[in-house]
Amino acid sequence: MTKHVVVIGGGVTGAAIAYDLAQRGARVTLLERGSIGSGTSGRTHGLLHSGCRYVKDVDVARECYLENVTLRRIAPFLFEKNGGLFVAIDESDLKYKDFFLKKCEEAGIPVKELDRNEALRLEPNLNPELKAAVLVPDGTFDPLKVLLSFLASAKLHGADIRPFSEVVGFRIESGAIKAVRVLDKTSEREYELEADYVVNATGAWANKVARLAGLSVPVKPSPGVMVALNARIGHRVFNRLNKPGDGDIIIHQRGTSVIGTTSWVVEDPDTVTIPREHVELMLKRGTELAPIVAKLKVKATFVSSRPLVGAVQASTGREVSRSFAIIDHAREGVENFASIIGGKFTTARLMAEKMADFVAERIGITQPCRTADTPLAPYWSYFT
Ligand SMILES: Cc1cc2nc3c(=O)[nH]c(=O)nc-3n(C[C@H](O)[C@H](O)[C@H](O)COP(=O)(O)OP(=O)(O)OC[C@H]3O[C@@H](n4cnc5c(N)ncnc54)[C@H](O)[C@@H]3O)c2cc1C
Repeated sequence: MTKHVVVIGGGVTGAAIAYDLAQRGARVTLLERGSIGSGTSGRTHGLLHSGCRYVKDVDVARECYLENVTLRRIAPFLFEKNGGLFVAIDESDLKYKDFFLKKCEEAGIPVKELDRNEALRLEPNLNPELKAAVLVPDGTFDPLKVLLSFLASAKLHGADIRPFSEVVGFRIESGAIKAVRVLDKTSEREYELEADYVVNATGAWANKVARLAGLSVPVKPSPGVMVALNARIGHRVFNRLNKPGDGDIIIHQRGTSVIGTTSWVVEDPDTVTIPREHVELMLKRGTELAPIVAKLKVKATFVSSRPLVGAVQASTGREVSRSFAIIDHAREGVENFASIIGGKFTTARLMAEKMADFVAERIGITQPCRTADTPLAPYWSYFT
């Protein structure tokens, strides 16, 4: 009598949900319209947030830091323990420092102030004019490897992972989804997949998918541009010591350093292009953090869209956390359907725990979440 849950979306959120539900004993099928990670998850900076970037909201910062620690514990092979530096370049940055340190302490994030010489000894490519530096527990990851580890773990518990499988409709009868209509893009064949429960984890596309069922999701796709340089200029993540803004972060991965990012809002994440002036802004702001940027060439530019939570009305019974939201479509007449939006790559495991708690209660699964304490399968086992 195992219940069948269909998870739509093969980004990190869908992958973590598929794993959590499969581990609790559900029969899970994950559908992804492209290759694994072809949405936003495959195109992030790859920053394992320490939470310091979000200290304005202490609860969100603490949530990030705790997930950072959890992920390093369950999959130490996926994360570089390189740490990060928040550096003040001008007087406005310097004014932010006391607030920053106070909030980090409130959030329980261990940070350490360094003097200028020590910061430059650790990272010689930082701006030599820097006025203050704080060492934080940031990390770096390869997004695809993390995704594959979640999916390999899901497969170990019997989940069926189907890339190149686009959801193109739903068969709804008596207020419940009976089947999901799927286009298999490898054979151009359409088929129906019966489901007891359906989770929409399509991030910036969540409203487009919900519309196929005549519903809506308050997601605001918010693209950001990233610029990869033709050299690696540091080890620790470089952050500007100030409120989050454009071009205030440089992350080093293998042979490249990536400057990010910008932020605007669009209606349709499928029509996003890279504005040239955003690339120029990244290079200008990146040069302020590390003057060597001006001497390097651009290796690649890329863009992806955050699945930001838009205005959510309490009266519709939507369950909202400050960083992500679960939307129960039962309130709008489709009882076995929920969407999840918002969050960050770093907090996907936690989002999945909350979503799986929600689904488990509705389909009668009593197994608790164990993903915070179970080691993740190695990413390469996804292919074996
Ligand atoms: C520029 C930028 C930089 C970022 N950097 C970081 C960072 O460094 N660290 C961090 O923690 N977070 C970062 N984030 C946030 C993080 O990347 C996202 O929050 C996260 O990847 C969202 O994952 P997701 O699984 O919800 O969405 P996605 O990864 O977008 O997954 C949704 C999937 O649904 C699929 N889909 C859509 N429609 C259908 C359909 N009809 N049928 C089947 N599948 C469908 C899409 O193809 C997509 O793969 C960044 C975000 C942006 C925009």
